[in-house]
Amino acid sequence: MDTVKQSNCNCYRGRFAPTPSGPLHFGSIITALGSYLDAKSKKGTWLVRIDDIDQSRNKLDADKIILDQLEQLGLIWDEPIVYQSQRIDLYTIAFKKLEKLKCIFSCDCPRKEIKGIIYPGTCRNKIHALNSNQSIRIKTNNTPISIFDRLQGYYSQSIDSEIGDFIIKRADGYFAYHLVAAVDDGEQNITHIVRGFDLLDSTPRQIFLQKKLKYKTPAYLHLPIAIDIKGKKISKTDKVTKFVASNPKRSLVNALIFLGQSPPPGITGSDIKTILDWAIDNWSIELLPSKSKIHYSPYLK
Ligand SMILES: [Zn+2]
Repeated sequence: MDTVKQSNCNCYRGRFAPTPSGPLHFGSIITALGSYLDAKSKKGTWLVRIDDIDQSRNKLDADKIILDQLEQLGLIWDEPIVYQSQRIDLYTIAFKKLEKLKCIFSCDCPRKEIKGIIYPGTCRNKIHALNSNQSIRIKTNNTPISIFDRLQGYYSQSIDSEIGDFIIKRADGYFAYHLVAAVDDGEQNITHIVRGFDLLDSTPRQIFLQKKLKYKTPAYLHLPIAIDIKGKKISKTDKVTKFVASNPKRSLVNALIFLGQSPPPGITGSDIKTILDWAIDNWSIELLPSKSKIHYSPYLK
């Protein structure tokens, strides 16, 4: 068993890392607010990083809309915004380190053959140079990676048998999510990650990469995700729950209630700063619902 030592640094550095594929919606406001309150309640630093590495998903000006929404919500970041699309050099350095370690390989398996299955290691032992027109995967192993999530408790995964060798650079040339997340969190000295439960099962892959690249492992907290009446994750395309820019206070209070906090009745009559100050002073992890999904219907309409 490979037990991961997680950060217990008292110089808290947290982050919110939205993809600019559309405006914030209720689900992403929960994550933004949860990570902000956790950082601020520990007098920490809170960063915003735009995860725009996959440019095929980016929508024009979505980053500006997201930053504007965060400002309306009073969630103000402490350091300049970082854009992944401007950090390709850092990812290239990390990629070269992994290449030096001889733990990555080109994979030419037809996508339809391996889509949705555990990668069976077909190309792992083929001896040839890396081909930049093919997916690049990293060799994994079956040592379980166990983490203690601050909300969800222990979580363990054997990457080799549950996921397989995973992609760190795609055939279309983009560095993959897990690699850029591990590099960014490492380079930005992130000590605490607060994000949605749907990313819990990707955490061991990021820890695997952190260790290869000699980065420290942050502490993790995976919040429940908001689902609609059909059990589907509330997404940016969901018209019903789209962020209502005209009423950020209502969005904040709804998010606080979703997160199990108990804002006093009538707090929506206060200004944003008063609501956030209350939320920082009263932030309690013990009150968070330790579920993976919660059906959401707005408490305040
Ligand atoms: Zn392959």
